[in-house]
Amino acid sequence: MYDIAVIGAGASGIVAAISAKKTNDNLSVALIEALPKIGKKILATGNGRCNLTNLTANTKSYNTKAVSAVMGNCPPNKIIEFFSSIGLECVTDSESRVYPMSNTATGVLDCLRFEADRLEIDVITDTKVTSVRKNNRTFVINDSIECRKVVVATGGKAAPSQGSDGSGYPIIKSLGHTVTQLYPGLVQLTVKENLKFLKGIRVKATVSLKDKNGKMLDKSEGEILFADYGLSGIAIMDVSRSVKENNCICSLDILSDMKNEAVYEFIAKAKKRNPSLLLEDALCGILPKKVGYLIIKNSGFRQDITLRELRNEDINKFVCNMKNCVFTVIGTRGFDSAQITVGGAVFDEFDTKTLESKFAEGLYCTGELLDVDAPCGGFNLQWAWASGIVAGNAAAYSLTR
Ligand SMILES: Cc1cc2nc3c(=O)[nH]c(=O)nc-3n(C[C@H](O)[C@H](O)[C@H](O)COP(=O)(O)OP(=O)(O)OC[C@H]3O[C@@H](n4cnc5c(N)ncnc54)[C@H](O)[C@@H]3O)c2cc1C
Repeated sequence: MYDIAVIGAGASGIVAAISAKKTNDNLSVALIEALPKIGKKILATGNGRCNLTNLTANTKSYNTKAVSAVMGNCPPNKIIEFFSSIGLECVTDSESRVYPMSNTATGVLDCLRFEADRLEIDVITDTKVTSVRKNNRTFVINDSIECRKVVVATGGKAAPSQGSDGSGYPIIKSLGHTVTQLYPGLVQLTVKENLKFLKGIRVKATVSLKDKNGKMLDKSEGEILFADYGLSGIAIMDVSRSVKENNCICSLDILSDMKNEAVYEFIAKAKKRNPSLLLEDALCGILPKKVGYLIIKNSGFRQDITLRELRNEDINKFVCNMKNCVFTVIGTRGFDSAQITVGGAVFDEFDTKTLESKFAEGLYCTGELLDVDAPCGGFNLQWAWASGIVAGNAAAYSLTR
């Protein structure tokens, strides 16, 4: 019989177990993980560098205001303090993204592991939880492990190779909770247009995602990476959270750093300087050549059109196409390629201050399992750590009073 059992040793689960033990060292805490080792996904975060939070993170960074109590309790500076308290120092980049000073995700996981060892948390690996039964005042996990409080921290469905295979949803449903529809988030988009010839090219752009009736769904700015299947890059991943049906329209302003008039002037000046130059070649000064070709094609011009042939209205048409380069989204690369799950356990069914279930006393939920999501940049881990700390503390405190 454990006082507290945490199911899932990912970001939120490890921190929940540590926080519970820090709140009351006399409690017995188990951390149960399906994989042979804990924290596998943490190692993959931030391209192996672990972008562990973002100084700008606040309630507005998330899809729901329900996070406000947890974020108020554990804002980014509290997370940085938490890591400092376990021996991990952090640095912040120019975009407010926080990384470990060692610049390695292994350093983050190691510090968490050492702290879990120091606190004598009982880490049980290679154990996939398939059932949690409420038994009067206790819970029984897999018909064998009994505990007084249980924290379900099994993550969502994104990146199942890292352990989060969606097996937490049936567990919380069996305890009376509702799970919304689930979508892959922070994921690449597949488009109808053939972009194979642009594969590997990066541009900075403003992205507008609209539904098939033209209603704006999401907007973002940043790097776009063209791929053989469609579109990738941080700005695309960010708007992917709003793709909930096929045939959305993804419109790129390919030259967001240059206003329409400035692009017009650039072409008009080039025409004056060297009228026999191909438009395609003139664009080399502002765009990767193949991207210029894409806009030439979209504008209905011959590939070998010269600047001399361009009338003022043609230049205007070209500028419009560059500022509104449209692709039809036919899907995403799915949960295997996604960084997060959009949707999850309905937040209203949990106490927003403690993350305790309103239906099953002593049950807590954390991290991505809940219906909480945010853009790239450290916001999702911020939620995982913050919710883990809050639930771990609350579970331990309820046994300490
Ligand atoms: C490639 C990649 C890069 C990312 N980079 C960043 C980043 O730099 N910054 C950022 O903020 N976010 C990033 N994220 C998102 C972030 O990793 C997640 O939001 C966060 O890990 C969610 O934490 P969690 O504790 O809810 O779930 P997870 O970290 O997914 O942990 C869940 C754990 O539970 C275990 N588990 C699942 N089911 C069971 C079961 N039935 N029984 C026992 N154990 C189970 C899993 O094996 C896993 O260890 C990235 C995600 C990916 C995939």
